[in-house]
Amino acid sequence: MDKLLSVVVSVYNEEQALPLFYQTAKPVLESLPWDYEILFVNDGSQDGSLEFLRGLAEGDSHVKVIGFSRNFGHEAAMIAGIDYARGDGIVCMDADLQHPPACLPEIVEKLGEGCGVITMVRTQNASAGVVKNITSAGFYWLINTLSDVKFEPNASDFFAVSRQAADVLRQNYREKVRFLRGYVQNIGFRRAAICYEAQERAAGESKYSIRKLFTFSINTILCFSNLPLKLGIYAGGLAGLMGIAVMVYTLCTRQGAPSGYATIVILNCFMFAVLFLIVGIIGEYMAILFSELKDRPIYIVGNTWNVGEHEDKEGS
Ligand code: UDP
Ligand code: MG
Repeated sequence: MDKLLSVVVSVYNEEQALPLFYQTAKPVLESLPWDYEILFVNDGSQDGSLEFLRGLAEGDSHVKVIGFSRNFGHEAAMIAGIDYARGDGIVCMDADLQHPPACLPEIVEKLGEGCGVITMVRTQNASAGVVKNITSAGFYWLINTLSDVKFEPNASDFFAVSRQAADVLRQNYREKVRFLRGYVQNIGFRRAAICYEAQERAAGESKYSIRKLFTFSINTILCFSNLPLKLGIYAGGLAGLMGIAVMVYTLCTRQGAPSGYATIVILNCFMFAVLFLIVGIIGEYMAILFSELKDRPIYIVGNTWNVGEHEDKEGS
């Protein structure tokens, strides 16, 4: 067995799901023609997840644990796992069994054939409600309209990359406001897609609230498209044309001064609304620029287990 598969699992308060995940994934991984490592990235869980993972790491040398110093979010957890992974192929998946480990043999087969990027396409999302499915479709429509970069609507945070593709993510995609799924779909390489049926969450609750998803969607659109920045130019052009039309109308009809009050108020409100909206959009871009400029770390590792003999930290 010369090849190694790294499975990156992000974990945030998953103490109920983790035992199930391990029990399900372990036999599948054992049956693979490749050697494997499971990298659990504990994203500052407040429950017993870390203790459980530490126990696993002690009993199983395939299990590696990277513990963040606090919660940094799912995106940070995935890139940390990729940073630490040593595999010839790397798979990212959730700890809640929504991404079935049963797909791993097929992924390894594709990686063996020389695929650089394997996107896992969701055919059905059993656990997402109607609202989540509709908003998700709306988000993908909007981003595909606004951005040059094309997004696969049913792609998920379940994907696999070769070592070469992972190196690109490690070295060149160190943005602070992140969307790993978007980068993976746009780095090129030989690609393959595998369909899977998203399962119900094995245990626990989703960590993504509608509000969190909304902020995440706005940031993603801004990071992948410059079009909103040009809204000012379009709005300016439109307001100019409207001004000319009103001017021509006034001159032609020679209306007396007192009438037209309502028109003025409505136009004023409308103009201010557009103006503030545009200022707000510029503000959002500035916020992203500011985070990139500060160049703070994407994540901070507090402790690790089984990651490397000399590297393991068991700090606070
Ligand atoms: N997660 C994380 N940090 C967070 C939130 C979530 O590492 O701040 C992990 C979580 O433990 C899970 C994965 O990211 O393994 C996806 O989260 P979740 O299942 O809650 O999202 P959903 O599948 O509902 O979109
Ligand atoms: Mg999930």
